[in-house]
Amino acid sequence: MTTDAQQAEPSFRDSVDIMFNRAVSLMELPEGLEEKIRVCNATYTVRFGVRLRGKIETFTGYRSVHSEHMEPVKGGIRFSMGVHQDEVEALAALMTYKCARVEVPYGGSKGGLRIDPNAWEPHELELITRRFAYELIKRDMINPAQNVPAPDMGTGEREMAWIADQYKRMNTTDINGNACVTGKPPNAGGIAGRVEATGRGVQYALQEFFRHADDVKTAGLSGSLDGKRIIVQGLGNVGYHAAKFLSEEDGAKITGIIERDGSLHNEDGIDVEAVRQWIIKNGGVTGFTGATHAENGAALLEAECDILIPAALEGVIDRNNAPNIKAPLIIEAANGPITAGGDEILRDKGTVIIPDMYANAGGVTVSYFEWVKNLSHIRFGRMQRRAEESRHQLIVDELERISKDSSINWTLSPNFKDRYLRGAGELELVRSGLDDTMRTAYQAMRAVWRSRDDVPDLRTAAYLVSIEKVAASYRAKGL
Ligand code: GLU
Repeated sequence: MTTDAQQAEPSFRDSVDIMFNRAVSLMELPEGLEEKIRVCNATYTVRFGVRLRGKIETFTGYRSVHSEHMEPVKGGIRFSMGVHQDEVEALAALMTYKCARVEVPYGGSKGGLRIDPNAWEPHELELITRRFAYELIKRDMINPAQNVPAPDMGTGEREMAWIADQYKRMNTTDINGNACVTGKPPNAGGIAGRVEATGRGVQYALQEFFRHADDVKTAGLSGSLDGKRIIVQGLGNVGYHAAKFLSEEDGAKITGIIERDGSLHNEDGIDVEAVRQWIIKNGGVTGFTGATHAENGAALLEAECDILIPAALEGVIDRNNAPNIKAPLIIEAANGPITAGGDEILRDKGTVIIPDMYANAGGVTVSYFEWVKNLSHIRFGRMQRRAEESRHQLIVDELERISKDSSINWTLSPNFKDRYLRGAGELELVRSGLDDTMRTAYQAMRAVWRSRDDVPDLRTAAYLVSIEKVAASYRAKGL
């Protein structure tokens, strides 16, 4: 039975449009441009057959291009039974705003294949992935200059390596073939730090939020991340890395974890790595000791905590449960975890929401670094690293000479030399580029939020900044 509130819930696609419209109503755009930006340019649906287990299985896949104001267009490919056109289009639209938000030079796109990846053996999944890729490649919907996919829910490095290889088989003379997809394994054209990137971005986003005492106060919190109680929904790639870094590096406590088969709760903090290993071995959180297990996982979304991190599916916070959410601060590590209805209720309650298009942009940011690396055919740091080290060596040698010659008895602290002498490798450069991106993007968004009375929240501010960027691109093209 559905309640009135459930019936009134807008679809994911509608939710994105409602949020978009709220921002656009505060802008002065030339007539018609608002609609041009909002609509999805094209969605391609493909149905293809693969002979598996003695019969032909038909699969349905999508690649949606939301905006080509910049090319290539960018966005992941999702493997899930829940994939449908409305979802892919909503996700493609979010990619447009996300790329604009963190200033990566792409339009927005997204793909999906309706499949349960766990139902197939790896060699079967490879056949299916390669066939889907073939269908998209031959229509230039996977192409280093036009459309560059990446991992999303249900896909990872392995699938991206298959897609890159398929592209290269079909385009044997394209020297930039590796740049046709990002999120590849490091030994197949990938970049250090891509797997952790979205979770790392969530950590950097929260660190930046806590650098702004006013914003922290608006959320009814104080101090730093140290000791903050966090509930994470979904311990997949994004949720796991965010929870791990925040607990191991920032002193936060993961007091709740929500998974498919229930939730874990412990006010003293949960060992994220131990839970992750347990899930890998046992397929779920049930049976994990060291926290209280409850079968109704979703109920934990409503528990007391300082920060809630929805890191799984869209639409998990809606009109029904939003009134009961107690977290004063929510960071959307997933795409679209809060419906437009839920968003309105939370805003009225004063909950501060760090929106998806910014919060989970770490993935596409590091994808951008990988794409640039592929096009430049050189690893980051290869030219500068040793030069940087020898310059640092000069300073250390000079300091040691002065200390020997001077009458003042001073020495360098024990590991200063090691730390200072080491030039930055690829991983350090990727993290530094990501940190810089997350800091500056937050600052641009909060500046709008703080300076305009008609901008009620960070989400509206994020849309405003992003739409303005997209509009400027169209203006420059003469549209
Ligand atoms: N699928 C990820 C996202 O939703 C990454 C996209 C990309 O790297 O292109 O942001």
